[in-house]
Amino acid sequence: MKKMITIPSKVKVLNLKAINNLVYEDIDVKALEPGTVLVKVMACGICSSDIERVFVNGTYHFPTVIGHEFSGRIVAVYDDENADLLGKKAAIFPLLPCKKCDACKEENYALCSNYNYFGSRCDGGFSQYLVVPIWNLVLFDNISYEEAAMCEPAAVALHAVRKANITKDDTVLLVGTGTIAFLIGLFCQSVGAKVIMAGRRKESLKMAEDYGFIPIVNDDNVKQNLKNVIGKENVDTVFEVVGSNSAINSALSLALKKAILVGNPKEDVLLEKNNYWRILRKELQVIGSWNSNFGSQKNDWQDVLQMLDNKKVSFNNLITKVYDMKDYKEAFNLVKSAALTFKVILRPNGVDSDEKR
Ligand SMILES: [Zn+2]
Ligand SMILES: [Zn+2]
Repeated sequence: MKKMITIPSKVKVLNLKAINNLVYEDIDVKALEPGTVLVKVMACGICSSDIERVFVNGTYHFPTVIGHEFSGRIVAVYDDENADLLGKKAAIFPLLPCKKCDACKEENYALCSNYNYFGSRCDGGFSQYLVVPIWNLVLFDNISYEEAAMCEPAAVALHAVRKANITKDDTVLLVGTGTIAFLIGLFCQSVGAKVIMAGRRKESLKMAEDYGFIPIVNDDNVKQNLKNVIGKENVDTVFEVVGSNSAINSALSLALKKAILVGNPKEDVLLEKNNYWRILRKELQVIGSWNSNFGSQKNDWQDVLQMLDNKKVSFNNLITKVYDMKDYKEAFNLVKSAALTFKVILRPNGVDSDEKR
C-alpha cells in the first residue's frame, strides 16, 4: 500500500440511522482492498433524493452513510502499481455494478439488475474519507471540488440531452425548474439550441431568464403562454423534469415529436386521453432517460468533466451554498425549506481546508 497520509482509524460521517434520524458521528474507516483507493472527500452535494431518504423513505438498510454526489483527493492506494493516482483529484461514479448481468456486459451499467450504490445501498460520500474502487474514479484537474461534485446530476442531465439528439437548430422546452432541469438547459444551450423553461415559481422563472432561457408560466394556459413567445403551441422536443402527473401531462401535450421523461414519478401516472392520443395519432415518441452512461466508449461523466474543463459549461451559478459538514442540519433545512435553492454542498473536511481547489 502507498499513502500520502496516516490513515485515520475513525472518520466523521452523516449516518442515517432511521427515517428522520441523521447523525453526525465517528465510524471506523474500512480497509483498502485490491483495486481500491482511499478518497479524502472534499465536496458532497445534497440531492433531492437525499431529502426523500432522510425524511420520507429511508435507505435500503440502517445505518447508511448517505451522499452520492461527491469528489475528493486520492490519498492512499492499495496496489503499489497505482501509486501514480496518489494526490490526484477525482469525481466518483456512485454506482457499483455487478459486471455480470446482460446490461453490464453491454456496459449499460446504470441498467444493472444487481448493483450497489454509494449513499443509498452502501456507505457514501458524506464522510471525511471513503474507500472507492479505481473503476469508479473520474479524474479531473482544473475544476473546483464543488463543480466536480455536480458531475453526478450533470451526467444525468447530459444523458437525457443525448437521448434527444439536440442540435443548434432545435428549440427545446423544459417542464420543471430544478437543478437537473437547469443543467439540461445549459447542455442544450451549449450546442446552440434555444431553451424555453416552463415552471410555476416566479423566482425560478426569473432565474431561467438570467440563464438566457425563455421563461413561461406552467398554468392552465400553458399552451397560450408558449404561443405568446414562439408563435405556436408545440415544440418538437420537451423534457419532463418533475415527475408529477400534471407536469408529465403538460410535457406530453406540448411536445410535437419527442418527450424525454427524466423526473422520478411521485405516484401512479395517469395520462389524459388527449395525451395518449398524441402518442398514437401524432406518433409522439416518449423516451425514458435513466442515470448516465459510464462505459468505456460512451461516458457521460468524462464528457461532463471535459466540457467543464474547456469552459463550455459552468455550474458555479447553480451552487447555492457550501457548508462545513458539521453544519448539516442548517444545510438540510435550507434544501427542505421553501427558499429557492439549487445545489447545496457539504465539505466533510471543513470549508477552511487548505484544499479549496
Ligand atoms: Zn443525486
Ligand atoms: Zn449488472
